Amino acid sequence: MSRFNLKSIDGLLFDLDGVLFVGDDLVDGAVETIDYIKGKGVPCRFLTNTTTRSLDALYQKTSRLGLNIEKEEIFTPPKIAARYLRKRGSPRLLLVLQESTKQEFAGFPQDDVNPEVIVIGHYSDWWNYSLLNRLFHLIMNGAELLALHKGRYWETEKGLTLDIGAFVTGLEYSTGTTAKVIGKPAEEFFRLAVEDMGLTPDKVAMIGDDIASDVGGAQLAGLKGVLVKTGKYRKEVAERSSVKPNLTIESVASLRQLL
Ligand SMILES: [Mg+2]
Repeated sequence: MSRFNLKSIDGLLFDLDGVLFVGDDLVDGAVETIDYIKGKGVPCRFLTNTTTRSLDALYQKTSRLGLNIEKEEIFTPPKIAARYLRKRGSPRLLLVLQESTKQEFAGFPQDDVNPEVIVIGHYSDWWNYSLLNRLFHLIMNGAELLALHKGRYWETEKGLTLDIGAFVTGLEYSTGTTAKVIGKPAEEFFRLAVEDMGLTPDKVAMIGDDIASDVGGAQLAGLKGVLVKTGKYRKEVAERSSVKPNLTIESVASLRQLL
């Protein structure tokens, strides 16, 4: 692979959690880096798999942290899932989501007994055998499975934490079905953001802390993948991954010297 130069890039996609902030703490230099990139006129979009808060709440958070990000520049799985489901004709939904995320689906009919689509997002400590078994029966009876993302784990103040990809994959395995995945690493999620900037994938780089979802997903969609060593980054995981980032940098702050 020839050495990748960020100067050949016309647009950037950023993951939020683990790249610009971890929990409520900003990554050093994140605010200044976004200001610098926007000052240069480089288009950016922000792709997060966060399903723990609504888009409004997420935007409030980025604003409170001082990040120069427009609400329209943020792509969240609930926002894109709602758009996808509306195109499907507003099917009856069972929402396995936190209350704050359910807001995004307020316009859809909800049916806990005979849903057409089961929407899975972050569900915290409420996962248990009886819920999984109930979902299993609904899927066996014809309900479709829609996963807001298929993340393996993420970084919290307490360290690495199991993510919903484990439950989605378990349900797929037992039912013999394949979930429709909305967020990273789904190719379509990256493509929507690239199209929104009016660019082609080969001229866009994704900056993320997740080697599989951010870097691997972006590369499959035809983008360049840049791995940061903040957030959930772990050296051992990166070394044994089959995904090879186009570039690995210390943190988002390193971008200022490379663009
Ligand atoms: Mg992340």
